Amino acid sequence: RFITFEGGEGAGKSTQIQRLKERLSKLGLSIVVTREPGGSPGAEKIRTMLLSGDAKDLGPRGEAMLFAAARADHVDSTIEPALVRGEWVLCDRFADSTRVYQGEAGVDPAYLDLLETAAVAGMRPDLTILIDIPADVGLARVKTRSETVSTGGPDRFEIDDVGVHERRRALFLDLARREPARFAVIDGRQDTEAVEKAIWAAVQNHFAE
Ligand code: C5P
Repeated sequence: RFITFEGGEGAGKSTQIQRLKERLSKLGLSIVVTREPGGSPGAEKIRTMLLSGDAKDLGPRGEAMLFAAARADHVDSTIEPALVRGEWVLCDRFADSTRVYQGEAGVDPAYLDLLETAAVAGMRPDLTILIDIPADVGLARVKTRSETVSTGGPDRFEIDDVGVHERRRALFLDLARREPARFAVIDGRQDTEAVEKAIWAAVQNHFAE
């Protein structure tokens, strides 16, 4: 099973991925937690380039290709092998993030579709958990987080512009509306425990025999 988590910054994806991992592990399942951009040795190198700003001389189309290159390696080196071993893969961001982030940045959706087709090579999530929060709530959470040492501060995509975050949120919700069978939209304003329960219900519901 392949489950992806999507949402804006500050939605609480990483916490919820850990919570879901714990619940699934208790059932005796083997879980691989991974993330994008990154998730394989090669793709983590591309991540560093993208987030540090080393790739910022690239135009948006070239940059989108780097996200796609990272995704192709992540699929081949990490996701597919884990699924073949019968493990569950929980992935922090996947192709939907590219549609939203690079789409919001002005890259033609048809071009993003081409890259996605090439990168995922048929690997599509069984279920995508979209943790939805209003832009201002997410931004406020990110500001608190950036002051903590553990995350290493903001990366170059963490833009302090509520309009950008609103547009990203709307794009995520659009994707969810277009593919209701794949998406579960969770209200991320709830407290951590309530979000965890809602995600668990969605997972059980989705994979119920
Ligand atoms: O998941 P996390 O919020 O840590 O994402 C890392 C960074 O990469 C974020 O700032 C996100 O906005 C950015 N990103 C992006 N395009 C993607 C995936 C992530 O700009 N396709």
